[in-house]
Amino acid sequence: MDVLYLDNNATTPILPAVVEAMRPFVEGTFANPASAHRLGRLARRALEDARESVAALLGAHADEVVFTSGATEANNLALSRGQGSGVSEPAHLVASPIEHPSVSEPLRHLNETGHAVSCLDVDASGVVNVEGLSALMRPQTRLVALMLANHETGAVQPVRRAVDLAGDVPLHCDATQAVGKLAVDFHALGVSTLSLSAHKFHGPRGVGALLVRRGRRVVPLLRGGHQQQGVRPGTEPVPLVVGLASALRLALSEREARTSHVTRLRERFLARLERDACPVLNGPTDATGIPHTLNLSFPGLKADLLLMSLDLAGVCCSTGSACSSGSLLPSPVLRAMGVSDERLRSAIRFSLGAQLSETEVDEAAARICRVVKRLRQGPPPG
Ligand code: PMP
Repeated sequence: MDVLYLDNNATTPILPAVVEAMRPFVEGTFANPASAHRLGRLARRALEDARESVAALLGAHADEVVFTSGATEANNLALSRGQGSGVSEPAHLVASPIEHPSVSEPLRHLNETGHAVSCLDVDASGVVNVEGLSALMRPQTRLVALMLANHETGAVQPVRRAVDLAGDVPLHCDATQAVGKLAVDFHALGVSTLSLSAHKFHGPRGVGALLVRRGRRVVPLLRGGHQQQGVRPGTEPVPLVVGLASALRLALSEREARTSHVTRLRERFLARLERDACPVLNGPTDATGIPHTLNLSFPGLKADLLLMSLDLAGVCCSTGSACSSGSLLPSPVLRAMGVSDERLRSAIRFSLGAQLSETEVDEAAARICRVVKRLRQGPPPG
């Protein structure tokens, strides 16, 4: 129990059953799925079977599934539509202020290149106020972006309500932290595009998907091949795609069991920390969020020092999304929620996973309490 991994929102360990599902396509069926010969056809069969599974598991049609290198690419691809799909006049977009950088940065780029972006409000528990949407909509509004579950707080967003309020304007939903944890039905949710990434639900890193509603057009980011109807050209990574489908199937068949296990872990972990380390919870209580994510501030301490000390104590966690950690900027998500500077500076994200045992979580909590106590006492005298 040397190293305890509490950073499952950054990535999750791949399950052995997923590796086994991928193995025949890593070691055996290697052909290019675009090749017309029999080996190519075998690879294509596996690719299209995986596409059909993913579609069926998420309430989509197979021709609505575009495999990508992950959610960053899927989000960028979805937002390329915001450029206007050939429309030359400046467009208007509406987004939440708590989006992942793979959504907020493309939006910032659009803004810098002449498009207007309006921002919704978020409440103190991390839930976006979508009722404000109607007031922000303009005749030129091309797209609304709202994630399903936040990567830093776990807060689940009222996406269905936002779709209703957006009317005819398409809504892009980054569901990366929700797929595999919540029941996600693409058609029932009513969004136009939805992104996901296999490594967030115990699948391989480097593969994800964008679901694109029939009739919606996205502008390809890449050019140079006919694969996936030209929307995402390039030879499809069959082993990764097979791994994505396998991990998703497992996640959804075990969803309820995993959720109640993680909910129990969260309760134990939080109770222990509340008793001995006096944290402040940033984000929703477990009733309205995904239980995996716990964002806690330890007033009086600096998050970067705490993170390093926890690493030395063998506890892996994070100060925000992995993509932005390394920068010392305070979390834009917590800032948008109106979290005070003191709490911002001392916020740590612990993200639990179904692979953790109660013993491991108890041990992690004990180590965290020891580290917090030591840091609060300051350096020994002399
Ligand atoms: N969106 C959210 C909400 C995420 O948490 C992440 C991963 N940190 C991404 C997008 C990017 O996913 P990927 O690593 O597959 O590019």
